Amino acid sequence: MTRVMLSLFDTCTRRIVPVEPEDGKTLRFYCCGPTVYAAAHIGNFRTFVAQDVFRRVVELGGLRTKHVRNLTDVDDKTIRNSQVQGIPLAEYTAKWTQKFHEDCAALNCLPPHVEPSAVGHIAEQIQLVQRLIDSGHAYCSDDGSVYFRISSYAEYGQLAHLDSQTLDLGKTAQTRADTDEYEKDSLADFVLWKARRPEDGENYWSSPWGEGRPGWHLECSAMSHKYLGDSFDLHSGGVDLIFPHHENEIAQSRCGCGGSFARLWFHITHLLVDGAKMSKSLGNMYTLDDLAKLGHSPAALRYVLAGSYYRRPLNFTLVGMRDAMAALKRLRRFDDALAARCPGQPTPSYRDLIKNPPELGLFQPAWTSLQDDLNTPEALGHVFSALHSIKPAELEADAAAAVRRAFHFIIEALGLILPQDDEGQTVDVPQEIRDLAEKRWAARLAKDWQKADELRSRLAERGWSMKDGRDSYQLTQN
Ligand code: AMP
Ligand code: ZN
Repeated sequence: MTRVMLSLFDTCTRRIVPVEPEDGKTLRFYCCGPTVYAAAHIGNFRTFVAQDVFRRVVELGGLRTKHVRNLTDVDDKTIRNSQVQGIPLAEYTAKWTQKFHEDCAALNCLPPHVEPSAVGHIAEQIQLVQRLIDSGHAYCSDDGSVYFRISSYAEYGQLAHLDSQTLDLGKTAQTRADTDEYEKDSLADFVLWKARRPEDGENYWSSPWGEGRPGWHLECSAMSHKYLGDSFDLHSGGVDLIFPHHENEIAQSRCGCGGSFARLWFHITHLLVDGAKMSKSLGNMYTLDDLAKLGHSPAALRYVLAGSYYRRPLNFTLVGMRDAMAALKRLRRFDDALAARCPGQPTPSYRDLIKNPPELGLFQPAWTSLQDDLNTPEALGHVFSALHSIKPAELEADAAAAVRRAFHFIIEALGLILPQDDEGQTVDVPQEIRDLAEKRWAARLAKDWQKADELRSRLAERGWSMKDGRDSYQLTQN
């Protein structure tokens, strides 16, 4: 197999760069995890699925990974919601953490190797604040809160490419931001430690500056340092995290831990619904459960999310979900047809494909597209082209098994879930009918209308009809 190295767009240098581990063996990366205050929505999962495809492409490409993703289980939102519902914070966030894990599994996302939580790392966060105070990068205010002094870090603003005017205003105005989220035009010293307030209820910890709780930005610096050290290969999140979250992480980590922090930055563009930003007020915010109620499976969502290019906005539509399921069924039929030619051969697994990467043959262009800045829609285009050229019915057992391994290599890189038997209508279709249908589909693609009609008649004689879609067909028994 040709192993081309993966290249990605790095937000900091604004260039497509090769993704290489510093130690030559293990790619060590950190992803900002979910805030566990409600079920994650499909926008969050766009980011988590893109990160999962990234990891799969790296691992299938022959490298090891160390994937760290945190859980934000204390912040303004988790505290507020748990208080409203009268449930202790730990119990409240445990429930949503479990839901998040269930949804990740349903979407076929590999679990991270380490999943630290903010509440589990209060001591590490306090230590980091202390180091920042000791080195003159942070100061304590009258109420016992601690702030990072952005004027103390000359490189502040490099990741977000803040212009000098914004930076000058922010650094000289000496204002402070108490909330975790704010816009570029309110650039200010940001909070590291929040002094206890009545609305925090029981959610506070002791510190050298009095009782309080950590600010949101701090946790990722403390936890990435603990599990990945002061320099690691890549850091990732949705584009909304570039400023202020990641900018603040860089400042805290470089000033408090030394080292270069993350070498590369991988940001995922947001998902839109029907062309609009997702929001509760527009009623266009979907969770996996919302989609299930509308009859859409996680498999279709995985296809939609994995099949979009991470640097372009993904416009989510329910029609797109239906098309995704049709495309998955086409992939399933192809796989079934191959499996029928090499009976007794197990379906290649992700781990087995990593250990024994196959020759990719007609699927090589799909792999090359994945290596080229994770161009997943282009990769899928190549997969369907390969399907048009390959006729499983004409393959000997060995050839069918080899093609099946190459096909599964790409399916596994994208983490696609081929529909189960009851979602497709392929199980009850006799092999003879499937072969006829594949031949007719090939004739149709070759615009050999006469042959296609003839095969349609032969299917009809056997009691089957074929409905053509854009990328696939459906077989129904008359
Ligand atoms: P949160 O739980 O809000 O901290 O977000 C978890 C992840 O989802 C972060 O990496 C966010 O940047 C990302 N995210 C939030 N909204 C969207 C969206 N509409 N599209 C893509 N990613 C998103
Ligand atoms: Zn983070």
